[in-house]
Parts: sequence; C-alpha cells; structure tokens
Amino acid sequence: MENCIFCKIANGEIPTNTIYEDENFRVILDNGPATKGHALVLPKSHYADLFEIPEDVAAGAVKVAKKVAGTMKEKLSCDGLNLVQNNGEAAGQTVMHFHLHIIPRYKDDGQHILWKPTSLSAEVLEEIRKTIAGE
Ligand code: AMP
Ligand code: ZN
Repeated sequence: MENCIFCKIANGEIPTNTIYEDENFRVILDNGPATKGHALVLPKSHYADLFEIPEDVAAGAVKVAKKVAGTMKEKLSCDGLNLVQNNGEAAGQTVMHFHLHIIPRYKDDGQHILWKPTSLSAEVLEEIRKTIAGE
C-alpha cells in the first residue's frame, strides 16, 4: 500500500524504534505510549484489519506478541499486560494497517483500558447467542 505509514515503518522505509523483527513482522515502540514499553506488532504485508488479515498471519502476530510479552515481563518487570487490537473507526482504530498493541501494565499506572460493563436480561443474551451461533 503506497501511502500507508505502517507499511513504510514495517518494511524499514521509515526508521523507528524496533524491538523485534523477523521475516514477516516488525515490533515497534508506540510513539504515543499508554505505558512504558507500549509496542505494536506490525505485519510487513498490508492488511487493513482483522477482517482482511489471513488466519495464519493473525496467528503469527499473536505468536510474536507472546514472545515480546515474555521479554517485557523479564526486562521491564511489568505487573500485567494487555493485548489490544482495534478494528474500524467505531472500535478506535486510527491507522488502517492491522496492528496488535502490546501494553505492559504496572500497578497504579493510571491507565483505563477496560470497558464499562452493562447488564442484559437472560432472554436478550439468549437472542444474541442464537444470532451469532446461527441457530
Ligand atoms: P489504533 O488506535 O489501534 O489504530 O492505534 C494506532 C497507534 O499507533 C496509536 O497508539 C499511535 O500512538 C500509534 N502510532 C501512530 N503513528 C505512529 C508512528 N509513526 N510510530 C509509532 N506509533 C505510531
Ligand atoms: Zn500498510
């Protein structure tokens, strides 16, 4: 993709803070980090989001995230870690090249990545379940 910044970063056309690289992925430090060590797993090929990315590439991204997460736990001594992956504007995606956020968490780091729970009746939950399960 010609004008995709993450294509350029992933393929080394724009220099950035790389913490891991292999044939198919580059992991960079987010330049607006939620916490110390916040990183992004970028596939070197362009896929806009989870709907477009092939299953094996998505699986590969999670494998890379697991490897980097282990390193972060060891080197940054984080207390926890969120994997976050946004798809579409409605979900907060701002760069339309698939990426997986690795966000190390620290006790009292002041970040709020969790959602506000709502409550639904058992009937409504069952309706939703049937819709998604195709029953
Ligand atoms: P999302 O909202 O899931 O699309 O996340 C996009 C992320 O990319 C944000 O956390 C940005 O801070 C980060 N970001 C955008 N441009 C760059 C860049 N040039 N280098 C590093 N991170 C970036
Ligand atoms: Zn791209």
